Amino acid sequence: MTDPLAPRMRWWGWGVDGHDAPLTRSASMLLREELGLGGVAALPVALERVALAEPALGPAASAQLAGAVGGGENVRDDRLTRVTHAAGRSYPDLVRLRSGAGLAAPDAVVYPADHEQVASVLAVCAEHAIAVVPFGGGTSVVGGVEALRGSLSAVVSLDLARLSGLHDVDARSQLATFGAGTLGPDVERLLDPHGLTLGHFPQSFEFSTVGGWAATRSAGQASTGYGRIDELVVALRAATPSGELSTLPVPASAAGPDLRELLLGSEGVLGVITEVTLRVRPRPQHGHYDAYAMPGFAAGAEALRELEQAGAAPDVARLSDEEETRLSLALASHPAATRLLRAYMNARAGRSRRAGDSRDERPAGCMTILGFDGTPAEITLRRAGARRILRRHGAVALGGAPGAAWAKGRFHGAYLRDVLMSRGVLVETLETATTWTELTRLHRDVRAALGTALAQRATPAVVMCHVSHLYPTGASLYFTFLARRQMGAELAQWQAAKQAASEAISAAGATITHHHAVGRDHASWLPAEVGALGVAALQAVKARVDPTGIMNPGKLIP
Ligand SMILES: Cc1cc2nc3c(=O)[nH]c(=O)nc-3n(C[C@H](O)[C@H](O)[C@H](O)COP(=O)(O)OP(=O)(O)OC[C@H]3O[C@@H](n4cnc5c(N)ncnc54)[C@H](O)[C@@H]3O)c2cc1C
Repeated sequence: MTDPLAPRMRWWGWGVDGHDAPLTRSASMLLREELGLGGVAALPVALERVALAEPALGPAASAQLAGAVGGGENVRDDRLTRVTHAAGRSYPDLVRLRSGAGLAAPDAVVYPADHEQVASVLAVCAEHAIAVVPFGGGTSVVGGVEALRGSLSAVVSLDLARLSGLHDVDARSQLATFGAGTLGPDVERLLDPHGLTLGHFPQSFEFSTVGGWAATRSAGQASTGYGRIDELVVALRAATPSGELSTLPVPASAAGPDLRELLLGSEGVLGVITEVTLRVRPRPQHGHYDAYAMPGFAAGAEALRELEQAGAAPDVARLSDEEETRLSLALASHPAATRLLRAYMNARAGRSRRAGDSRDERPAGCMTILGFDGTPAEITLRRAGARRILRRHGAVALGGAPGAAWAKGRFHGAYLRDVLMSRGVLVETLETATTWTELTRLHRDVRAALGTALAQRATPAVVMCHVSHLYPTGASLYFTFLARRQMGAELAQWQAAKQAASEAISAAGATITHHHAVGRDHASWLPAEVGALGVAALQAVKARVDPTGIMNPGKLIP
C-alpha cells in the first residue's frame, strides 16, 4: 500500500523523478551563446550527505504530539521527511537542498487530520515552547516554510496533507468549502462533477494547496479574469494558539474591519488556516488563445491598460518584454507564428535603423498572449473587442499557435529549473506591481538593477520580464533572470541580484511582492511598504493570538 504521507515532490527539486522537461537543442545552444555554458555542471548530493542536526524534540513533547494527531505514525522525524520540509522552492532553497548544506530542517513533522487536531498540536507546542511552521505544498519561493525556531528550543513542521478534500458545495450560491491541504488538481477534480471551476492556476498549481494560496495571497495565471485568491476566498477558518478565528461566508459585511483580510496573507504567523470557502463559477465550455506582436513593451502595456479599463480584458493576459519575446522566439515550437513574429520584429528593427537609431541591432517587438474562456459566442465577441483595441496600438495578429503552446506548457517552467540548475545556471524569478503610470519606469529600473548587479559579479546574464495580472489601476511585473552559477558563491550571487532588485522596487514605491508573499526573504522590506506603525500593528495582533510566539518565527513580520 502506498504511504499517504509520502513526499509529493522529490526532495531536491520540482515534481518527481522522470518528469523533467528535456532541454531542446535550441535551448542548449542559447545557454552556450548567451551565458557561455557547456555540459553538466552540478548534480544534487545524495540524501545521506545532507547535513542535519539531531532532532531536538523531548520525549514528553513527542508523546503529546503523537496523542494530538492520533498516533506516532503521524509524527515523523526520518531523514527524508525532515529534508522535504526544510525548504521551499526558491533558487536559494534549491541551492541549499542540492548542496546538502545550510538547511534549517524541522525536528519533526506532524500530520493532523482536522481542525481540532491542529488546535491540539498548537496547545502542545505552546506548552513546550516549540515553533510551528504550517506546511501546505511547500512551494514557497520566499523562505516561508523554512523551519526556523527563532528563540525556541525546537521546531515542528505542521503538514496539512490530511486536511484535504471538498467539505461542502453550495452550487446555488457558487460556494465551495475545502480543507486547507487540498492540492490544486484535486480542487478542480472535485469541482468538475458539479460543473464548477475555481479558475485559480498558479504555475505551482500541481503542488500547492488551498491553504497555502490563501496564506500567501496567491495569484493564478488567469487572475485577470477570475481574480486573485484574495478575491475568491469568501470565508476562512483558522486555529490559533489562542483559539479559533473564523469568518462567515456572506457576500459582504459592514461589521468592522474585515478579519478575512487579516488571515489572508498571514503566512502562518497568526495561526493555521484549516478550511477555506471559495467563490466558484460554472466551468467554461471553451477556451481560446490569441497572440499578437506589439511594437514594443510600452505600447503593449498601453494596449493592456486600455483593454482592462474598457472592461474588455481577457481572462489570461501576458505581455512579454523584448528580451522575453526574443528568448521565447529562440525556443519556440510553433513555426508559422514564429516566422511571422520574426519578420515583424526584423521589419521594426530595420525601420528603426533606417530612422538612424542604431543603438540596438536586435529585433524589436513584443509578444502578447490573450486567453478567453466562455461559450463560443462569448469568446468570439470578446476576441473581436480586444482585437479592435490592440490594433489601435499597432498589434499584428500571430494566430492561435503561440497561445495554445503556452497553455499546453503552462506548468512546465517549474520542471525546467532543475535541468537548468544542473547545467550550471542561476535561474530565479521575482515580481512586483505598480500603477499604469509607473509601470514602464519600474520595468526599466528593475531590469537595470538586476543586469548591473549580475554584471558586477562578472557573470553574463539574461533579464526578462512579463506583465501577467491586470487591474484597472495598474499591473504586475514578473522578472526572470538567468546567469552562470558562481559555484560555491551561489547564495552571495543571488543575494546581490535580489538586493539590487528589491532596492529598485522599494525606491520606485512599488510593492515588494505582488503574489509570492513576504516570508523570510522580503521581511526586512515590509517596513518600507507599510511603515513602522503598520508593522507594530501586526506585531500587536500576533502578540494577542500567539502570545508565546510559536507561529512561524522569522517570517512576514520583521
Ligand atoms: C515554480 C513555482 C511557480 C510558482 N508560481 C506561482 C504563481 O503563479 N502564483 C503565485 O501566487 N505563486 C506562485 N508560486 C509561489 C507559491 O506556489 C505560492 O506562494 C503558493 O500559494 C504556496 O502554496 P503552498 O501550498 O505550497 O504553501 P507553502 O509553500 O507550504 O506555504 C507558504 C506559506 O504559507 C504558510 N501556510 C501554508 N499553508 C498554510 C495554512 N493552511 N495556514 C497558515 N499558513 C499556511 C506557510 O507557513 C508559508 O509561510 C510559485 C512557486 C514555484 C516554486
